[in-house]
Amino acid sequence: MTRLLLIGPPGAGKGTQAERLALAFDVPAISTGDIFRYNVTTNTPLGLEVKSFMNAGAYVPDTLTNAIVADRLKEADAATGFLLDGYPRTTDQVAELDRLLGAEGTQLDVVVLITADTDEVVARLLKRAAEQGRADDTAEVIRHRLDVYTEQTAPLIDVYSARGLVVTIDGLGAVEVVTDRILVALAERGLRASTTTL
Ligand code: AMP
Repeated sequence: MTRLLLIGPPGAGKGTQAERLALAFDVPAISTGDIFRYNVTTNTPLGLEVKSFMNAGAYVPDTLTNAIVADRLKEADAATGFLLDGYPRTTDQVAELDRLLGAEGTQLDVVVLITADTDEVVARLLKRAAEQGRADDTAEVIRHRLDVYTEQTAPLIDVYSARGLVVTIDGLGAVEVVTDRILVALAERGLRASTTTL
């Protein structure tokens, strides 16, 4: 059983690392951003509801986000562990995740904080904008997303640090190098990947 959370500013490389770690630990990567984007692309009622928040770089309301995650964690593939990418992002979401896991008698094993300085993440997000054309990767929206992260999500690091759960990883460098740093840090905490050949 491996229950991980990846946290860090937009552009730190969470999504990329989440995919790789999910493979290594053989657990599903659960990204609220991906779930929302999928619903926007396929024009579902949820997609219509969240689109304007996302395009503005604002957070989707907690009630909506919490309900999506509660449903997703009930799916069979999450029964033996999971890797959360981009959730929780607010203190209310932390409380809801605590409640959901507490009801199962479980809790998070480790919170991986991926760090990267602001100039680097802005450069990465602008590059992604050019490559993928994400609606929320424009310079103005990026600035807002970083502010929202600092105000609403950065405080979560203290919450999880107080529980002794946080490992901090330098997100600067090649994708494989960053993955290796995470795998080493997790192994030091007794979490061993089922495969390290990614
Ligand atoms: P991401 O792909 O994780 O950067 O998320 C993209 C966007 O989806 C965010 O800017 C928010 O608008 C929305 N989003 C993703 N996860 C959450 C969350 N946990 N709480 C609120 N909004 C979220």
